[in-house]
Amino acid sequence: MLLGGIHGDELTASAVVFKWLQQAQIPLARDFAWYVVPVLNPDGLLAAKPSRVNARGVDLNRNFPTPGWQEEAPRYWSKATASDPRRFPGKGPLSEPETRWLKAEIDRFKPNVIVSVHAPFGVLDFDGPAPVPERFGRLQFNRVGVYPGSLGNYSGLHRNIPVITIELPNAQAMPPAKEVDRIWVDMLTWITLNVHRPKEPATAPKAGTRVATGADKAANRN
Ligand SMILES: [Zn+2]
Repeated sequence: MLLGGIHGDELTASAVVFKWLQQAQIPLARDFAWYVVPVLNPDGLLAAKPSRVNARGVDLNRNFPTPGWQEEAPRYWSKATASDPRRFPGKGPLSEPETRWLKAEIDRFKPNVIVSVHAPFGVLDFDGPAPVPERFGRLQFNRVGVYPGSLGNYSGLHRNIPVITIELPNAQAMPPAKEVDRIWVDMLTWITLNVHRPKEPATAPKAGTRVATGADKAANRN
């Protein structure tokens, strides 16, 4: 599962996901079944001034239902961020339509690995049950942090679905095309070597690519 733009002001994150989507049929990638969400926070991305938070002022990457959310997320917000409005976790876990939708899609699609693209810290982070990836392209592993309500915390640590967090170095300027390709190939190689894939049941859909947006209600489920 490949996700971009959970923070609407990280424009390159969505753009890179669209670039990789165009390369989903290269040999390293085409054996996987992809579920691609290039823009998880469309209201933030399409706002007159793109915003990190969604239309209701919530940081979607603090709104996932990690254990203890009710105590930890508001406390972390007030103490560690000085109630930064860009990091408001919401009034409760899964209070937002985007996070409810993504959780339902994770439950349904059951990804073996989730890739979430951000900017601008220029590093690679990882949560979950697999060896830590050291380097994709120029991005090197460096822990960004584990936050109450974040997707990496929720999926990687509590649901045992590995989460690769790609932090591009700039939220507005794209990396060189060669670097975009290199990150993609390095990541696919790491997934191939390190992520356990259960044997496909007889009824599994064949490998392919499906694209959704935050507004998509997954109409073509089968
Ligand atoms: Zn971000």
